[in-house]
Parts: sequence; structure tokens; C-alpha cells
Amino acid sequence: MQNFTYQNPTRILFGQGRIADIGGQIPAGARVLITYGGGSVVKTGTLAEVKHALTGVTVFEFGGIEANPTYETLLQAVELARREKIDFLLAVGGGSVIDGTKFIAAAIPFAGDPWDILAKRAPITSAVPFGSVLTLPATGSEMNDGAVITKKATQDKLAFSNPRLFPQFSVLDPAKTLTLPPRQVANGVVDAFVHIVEQYLTYPVEARVQDRFAEGLLLTLIEEGPRALSEPDNLDVRANIMWTATLALNGLIGAGVPQDWSTHMLGHEITALHGVDHAQTLAIVLPAMLHVRREEKHAKLVQYAARVWGLHDGDENARIDAAIERTREFFESLSVPTRLSAYGIGADAIPALVAQLERHGMKRLGERRSLDLAASQRVYELAA
Ligand code: NAP
Ligand code: FE
Repeated sequence: MQNFTYQNPTRILFGQGRIADIGGQIPAGARVLITYGGGSVVKTGTLAEVKHALTGVTVFEFGGIEANPTYETLLQAVELARREKIDFLLAVGGGSVIDGTKFIAAAIPFAGDPWDILAKRAPITSAVPFGSVLTLPATGSEMNDGAVITKKATQDKLAFSNPRLFPQFSVLDPAKTLTLPPRQVANGVVDAFVHIVEQYLTYPVEARVQDRFAEGLLLTLIEEGPRALSEPDNLDVRANIMWTATLALNGLIGAGVPQDWSTHMLGHEITALHGVDHAQTLAIVLPAMLHVRREEKHAKLVQYAARVWGLHDGDENARIDAAIERTREFFESLSVPTRLSAYGIGADAIPALVAQLERHGMKRLGERRSLDLAASQRVYELAA
């Protein structure tokens, strides 16, 4: 196991009806800016429920944060927050709203051009405190300190993180996910699955408890993911998926192990140039990525085949092939396609994707920095 420091300060309020408890989480007299997305929380009544739970504070609202939140939109929230002297933010929505709120939190006190936070990894020395009410289990943003922001003008989708950007609290009410369209339910399962794989399917460092945690989370998604679609009213299924997605990326299974994240980086470029949903890009990239990196990941792929997919017999390479195929079939069974062509993106689009990686400094990706631009190109080609 590798050395690590682990601290996760986010308080989780889990379960039905927990929105009622957020009042006690926000300082009395605070000037609170509620942030939300394209309107689902208005339609479902969640926004009204949140406002009802807030007493003794002054409430402002900022809606319209897009899926794949844009810098351009978020800057408007920063202006509003500075003007109204906001001292607490409350994100109500999915990963995009929570990610966007992290950027707003960091940008409000930032001196200089806030885009430098992403493009130049400028140090963040303070941030406005915030909480979240999660409506879409997927990203883990509700219990981590990372965010991904897109600059529309230049088609850049870039990630940043900072320990000041953990939510103070997050409400996880599984009932709030019952209104999700099937496409977003499936996206969430795939995103969480790939988060686990990015931390688990790396070279072995004898981190046995992290491995067993990761395998347990993967097995839970394999069991419960299809049920969330076939039994859409089953709250126990939703609860299990919600907590699994949070645990997939709250630092716990990633502590003390090498981490990959190349599937995410290649996926971000597909979203930036073609607007494909985040999780859909991961379903396209992951099977191809595992094929291209099968030698360096051999030992862990054999373990993955056995413990996650029950593949114990025969030649190791055949087991690896079968495990990658089962992964692909799992995504497809959730109606998430695993080829670029499913979105009308042809092989002719690949040079531009690779050029984006180069422009973003992604010339050596993966836990061994072995994925150079030529290898990334092979991944895109295999995914075509
Ligand atoms: P999302 O972009 O937040 O939301 C997708 C769609 O689902 C939106 O149209 C939203 O509608 C709708 N929606 C959300 N909750 C709903 C509900 N309860 N009922 C009905 N519709 C609902 O999706 P996401 O997958 O959570 O977030 C994706 C973003 O997170 C990407 O930008 C990705 O790169 C990023 N990400 C971040 C991390 C991290 O660690 N921070 C990790 C992975 C990915 P409205 O807009 O109308 O609300
Ligand atoms: Fe993700």
C-alpha cells in the first residue's frame, strides 16, 4: 500500500425527508445563494422544499447551470454573489450544479482572472462555504473536492480540485432520484462504475481492503443498476445506488493506491467537441482503454475478471478478453452505447480529439504515465 493522507470533512444527511434538516447546517443570518440547473428542481418541487427548510437566512437564487457547467454561465453567478455579499452557497441538483457551485465558491474571493483556476491551476487560498442537495447519483461531487468546468468559447473541459472545496454537508435523499429519466439513471451507474475502475484497475500494491471495497461497489452497481431501470419505483435500489456512487469517489477507495483517470481525460475531449454526455463518453472509452493497456494492467485485469465477473477458468488472456466484453455488455444492457459511431462520430474526428489532448497537456496519462498521444489515438481508434 502507498502512503496517504485521508480526510473527508463532508457531513452526509442520508435518507428520505432529510432536506428538512438543512436549516441547522447553515449559519444563522447567512446570505445564501441557491444554485440549480435547467429547471428539473423547479418541476419536481425540490427547490420549493429546500426553500421551505431554510429559516433565519436570506435566500437568493441562481438557476440555469447547464449539464457540463460553463465558465460563461458561472461567471454570472459570481457577479451576483459578489454584488449581494453572499456568504453561503447551496447547490441543488446533479454533478453539474455541484461542480459549478465549487467553481463559484472559489471564484468569488479570487483576485484576477478566475479562468486561471482551471487553465493555470492558480492556487485557491479561500472559498465561500457551501452545501449540496443531490438529485442525481453519479459523480461523487457531493463528497469530494473536485469539479469539471467547460469554457464554451474555446471548447475546453478542464478539471480542478482543492481541499477547500469539499461541501460542508450534502443531503442524499434517494426519493429525489425517482424523477430521473432512464438515460440519467444509466449515466449515473456508468459514471460511478468508471470512477471505481479508474482507482481499482491499476497496478497491484497489495491494498487488499481498497480492492475489496472497490469490488463490492462494482458488484453492487452490476446488481442494482439494471434494477433501477426495471423497477423504477424501488427506493431500496435507489438508496443503494446513491450511496455506492458517493463512496465510489469520496477518496476512500483511492487512498493508498495508484490512480489512472485516463478514461475520464479522453472522455472529456469527446464531450468538449461533440457534446456527448459525460458517462456516455466513458462507456465508449473504457473498453478500448482496457484493451490497449492490457499488458500493464494484466494482473489487476485477471483479478477483476475473477472477482467481479466470476471468470476463473482458462487462459488468462481469454479471461481478460471476456471481462472486457462483460464490461461492454453491462454498459450496453443499460442502453449506454460503447462506440463513437453510435453518436455519428466517425474516425475522421479522431485527429481533433488527439489535438485537444495535446493542447491540454495530456501527453502522458495513466497511473504509469504510459499513455502517450499515439496510444490515446489507438484508444479512440479502437472505440470508433
Ligand atoms: P448533470 O449534468 O448534473 O445532470 C444531467 C441532467 O439530469 C440535467 O439535464 C438535469 O436537469 C437532470 N436531472 C438532475 N437531477 C434530476 C432529477 N432528480 N430528476 C429529473 N432530472 C434531473 O449530470 P451528472 O452526471 O450528475 O453530472 C455530470 C457532470 O459532472 C459532467 O460535467 C462531468 O464531467 C462532471 N463530473 C464531475 C465529477 C466530480 O468528481 N466532481 C466526477 C465525474 C463527472 P436540470 O439541469 O434541469 O436540473
Ligand atoms: Fe466521472
